[in-house]
Amino acid sequence: MKKVLVLGSTGSIGKQALEVIAETPGLEVAGLAAGTSHKLLVKQATESGASHVAILDENAASKVIEELPGVSVLSGPGCIRGLVDSVDCDIVLNAVVGAAGLEATMATLDRGIDLALANKESLVVAGSLIMETASRKGIRILPVDSEHSAIFQCLQGQEEGLERIFLTASGGPFFGLGRDRLEKVTRDDALNHPRWKMGSKISIDSATLMNKGLEVIEAHHLFGTGYDEIDVLVHPQSVVHSLVRFRDGSVLAQMGLPSMKLPIAYALNYPERLPVVMPQLDLIKQGELSFFKPDLDAFPCLEIAIEAGRRGGGAPIAVNAANEIAVAAFLGGRIRFLEIPGIIEKTLAAMDGDLASAIAGLEDIAEVDTAARRQAESLIT
Ligand code: NDP
Repeated sequence: MKKVLVLGSTGSIGKQALEVIAETPGLEVAGLAAGTSHKLLVKQATESGASHVAILDENAASKVIEELPGVSVLSGPGCIRGLVDSVDCDIVLNAVVGAAGLEATMATLDRGIDLALANKESLVVAGSLIMETASRKGIRILPVDSEHSAIFQCLQGQEEGLERIFLTASGGPFFGLGRDRLEKVTRDDALNHPRWKMGSKISIDSATLMNKGLEVIEAHHLFGTGYDEIDVLVHPQSVVHSLVRFRDGSVLAQMGLPSMKLPIAYALNYPERLPVVMPQLDLIKQGELSFFKPDLDAFPCLEIAIEAGRRGGGAPIAVNAANEIAVAAFLGGRIRFLEIPGIIEKTLAAMDGDLASAIAGLEDIAEVDTAARRQAESLIT
């Protein structure tokens, strides 16, 4: 049995991962971690037989302890690291949302366990550190993001010949709208993604195209590809999950219906391919597959993120932090949709001089992250 530690189990990816594990003989749950959703965590632990859980919210922890006798329960700041350090497992799935997921990524690398990585923000804020540590310690990072899983699947054994990456983007719920129409969109409009059912933060990132910008940075780190060798293609049907071109001109794509179960299962079962319970792609029924250039005027977040990636240093950390604050403010009804990119750009401008300094480690990352959050919050206020 391969023992899986699922971090962020109560979220969209976490719940689908538990389905995959339950449906795959040979996979079992070693432990679970959540932020605040204690009722769901208790239900998941009971159903999966997890012997170890962690919950960030200390008030919720007492209820979890009461309802899960015999199960080890950790809580409060540092509980994710404590869980990763103490649980007997073969692979960790990091499905925590936001830069908060960096703790889980680093704890997994420190422990020397394979990492199935959904938390793209880890790579955005600490990509070089993560890739260097994984390579030095011989730890596998298995991408869960569907686009990066697609690239990873296309590359198997052919990494040497990679020339160009084409990352596909659904375009989100506002594909085809200009700035005049975006002026009036609401929180509910933005959360209503036409193809993917995801957590609220990534749904808003998908609507602004920030998600694709973060993914370009993620691809740069995961596959060692230069920013000039990564293109973004808007593909509203979300069937082609990404493509790679090799130096002989051959282009490979990975396709499938839009479901995260396949990339989750591929990462957890790697290098084996095992059956996944989900509908199959029927290309005749599917009909047309179309591809477009992204509209950078209506969706400037894409370019903001890519530029920050190119710039390096503290810039991607600041973009990610300002974006997290702006998205939370939009979800809380404090700013309008079109104000999100402005908050991020103004945060970058205010911190300009400080962002050029080299990022030596986790302390530097935390310092830039905190300063950017403070700056973005003050702009919103
Ligand atoms: P959700 O918001 O649905 O879930 C996030 C999970 O993280 C929840 O279990 C939440 O716990 C937990 N969590 C949040 N903050 C903390 C914290 N500080 N410490 C511990 N746990 C915490 O997010 P998604 O599942 O949508 O996304 C997770 C990650 O996967 C993101 O990085 C996203 O970009 C990436 N991803 C998601 C895809 C999707 O289809 N959803 C596709 C590709 C990538 P609780 O709810 O109990 O508070």
